[in-house]
Amino acid sequence: MERHTDGIHHITAFVMNAQKNVDFYAGVLGLRLVKKTINFDAPEVYHLYFGNEAGNPGTIITFFPYEGRKGRIGGGQVGITTYVVPLGALDFWKERLISFHVSYSLKTRFGENYLTFSDPDGLQLEIVEREEGDLSHWSFGGVSIDKAIKGFGGAVLYSTVPEKTMNVLEQVLGLQKVEQEEDFIRYKSKGSIGNVIDVNIAAMGWGISGAGTVHHIAWRAKDNEDHASWRTHVEQHGLHPTPIIDRQYFNAIYFREKGGILFEIATDPPGFAVDEQPDVLGEKLMLPEWFESNRAEIEKNLPPIQVRELESFKP
Ligand code: ZN
Repeated sequence: MERHTDGIHHITAFVMNAQKNVDFYAGVLGLRLVKKTINFDAPEVYHLYFGNEAGNPGTIITFFPYEGRKGRIGGGQVGITTYVVPLGALDFWKERLISFHVSYSLKTRFGENYLTFSDPDGLQLEIVEREEGDLSHWSFGGVSIDKAIKGFGGAVLYSTVPEKTMNVLEQVLGLQKVEQEEDFIRYKSKGSIGNVIDVNIAAMGWGISGAGTVHHIAWRAKDNEDHASWRTHVEQHGLHPTPIIDRQYFNAIYFREKGGILFEIATDPPGFAVDEQPDVLGEKLMLPEWFESNRAEIEKNLPPIQVRELESFKP
């Protein structure tokens, strides 16, 4: 049966320092911290989720901040995470990055202009203007709604075997190849956000997982029933998905595609309002039921963090 994903659900990366992470993604980029929880596989580490006002699929970047080893961006990873802003907003973002001492460069790909920069840990980010995608209704720290990041424009994939990765994008995820230029092949999914995936055509040597690198990219499934079909579908293509895992805000399966990138497929529901009210998302440390009895100890081991408006920022 023909299947296709609407696009990126979320992207998850490693960083060193939790407060710096909050300051950059909330304070500089103006995203909303929509969930403050822990790594369910390592409860001494935060799991922080940033997105639009509701943390809709296609807008969510998530982090595990801990003082571990630094990674190296390379093959088998999402190389660049792309954010999309409304038409005409790029000049605002140039000024904003300058005011926070974040250096950037300008690049062009497939006729679009990209503002390219790094987060404090070296994660590669870029901002592009597009008409597609709903406006975020979250305004923070001097970023008005007409300039705010709408969510992901997409991502640039760095593969160790690009033709195999592209095969998975087409045959398994149902993305359409739309354009090709010298260094990149462009794929599109059906959704209006998180829907443009560029693959670096040159095979790249393996990156090293660690701070400043993306751990995985998750693709959208409509609901639990659709998700179960995705699992079967992935398995039928000779990939090896994990069992379905309850991630509290979505269900997940993971598999490594043959170019080395860790893919996840995640359900749109239930979303971030499943355990707190939409107007106070991200304010309290939320724990899944099975960790609640250890709350005091867990809280004691986590560094305090604060979402705050910034006067200045030291990258
Ligand atoms: Zn994930």
